[in-house]
Amino acid sequence: MVYLDYAATAPLLETAKKAMLEAEEYFFANASALHTPGHLALNKIEECREILAALINAEPNEIIFTSGASESNNTVIRTFEGHEIETSPLEHHSILETAKIYGGKKKPKLYSYMLANNETGEFLTLPDKKSDEYLHSDLTQAFGKVPIDVKALNLDYATFSAHKIGGPVGVGALYVKNGAPFKPLIIGGNQEHKRRGTTYNTVGIVGFKAALQNIIDNHIYNIYDTEVRNLRDTLAHRIIKEIPGSSLNTDISKGKSLPNILNASFEAAEGESIQLYLDAEGIIVSTGSACAVGDGKPSHVLMAKTGDAEVAHSSIRFSFGPDNTMADVERVMEVLPGIIKHLQDISTVERKDVK
Ligand code: PMP
Repeated sequence: MVYLDYAATAPLLETAKKAMLEAEEYFFANASALHTPGHLALNKIEECREILAALINAEPNEIIFTSGASESNNTVIRTFEGHEIETSPLEHHSILETAKIYGGKKKPKLYSYMLANNETGEFLTLPDKKSDEYLHSDLTQAFGKVPIDVKALNLDYATFSAHKIGGPVGVGALYVKNGAPFKPLIIGGNQEHKRRGTTYNTVGIVGFKAALQNIIDNHIYNIYDTEVRNLRDTLAHRIIKEIPGSSLNTDISKGKSLPNILNASFEAAEGESIQLYLDAEGIIVSTGSACAVGDGKPSHVLMAKTGDAEVAHSSIRFSFGPDNTMADVERVMEVLPGIIKHLQDISTVERKDVK
């Protein structure tokens, strides 16, 4: 299998799997309990908190563990219930939909802008906030790919997810700057200093820690910036050169996008069809056009970017990780041109490049 869907989820790292099995055996106790096994479990959680804080230039008490990025995002928006909330149009639905429901007119205002988009990989410019306003960034895709400094980015809140960096699904974190407003989403427990009730997910957090350690130990930022970028760029150049009717929805010039995501459109070929044909060849990608819930609507991200439903419907997202090789790019380019040609041949859509 050629796995090119890292942006949806990264395969669980062997080190994370091993650490989690060990935690199931030795650190299963309730981490809030006062007995010794409880303390040992809590120590494991605090180790993870310290590593994450150090990696993003935060204090450990500014990190709250959550069930993932969606919960972190929901928590920030709910904190600003009734307040003015400004988001970019490219945000994940866990921001857009909650902001629509809970946003209001009160001050202070919250801005929520992701640093890099999950469908195109492109960087966004974070807004300048006034001193009495607050800034949240969903760092789900950017974290683990490029170095992050929450102070340099002037953030009050930031969202993280473990499964995008090789940790388990169901664990994430929220950075809350000391002194920033906060309302817990899950009430009814003293965990996380009363900021999030429910029993600690020690095993998941131990897996998260292994994935964080991997970033440091294996120089992951450097690998993304060199090897992974080279794979992504090579695929981009070859698609444009070798596939008629193709266009890129990701600006691959340095500093414009994450090094691992490439979104491309293919005239008169539908994204879902391309995805299924590639799947049959053992190549795993996502559609940029796939509606999150299968309602047939084109991607809100590509619509905001291109304003062209055809482009949005004919898009595919390739997302790479450190385990991919140039052989994977070769394999895609062995089959993709034929798949696109076949789909274009049977399509009723008129192509602009064929007169
Ligand atoms: N935000 C962004 C930008 C994402 O890409 C995703 C995952 N697709 C999420 C939030 C949700 O992440 P999680 O699965 O951890 O809830």
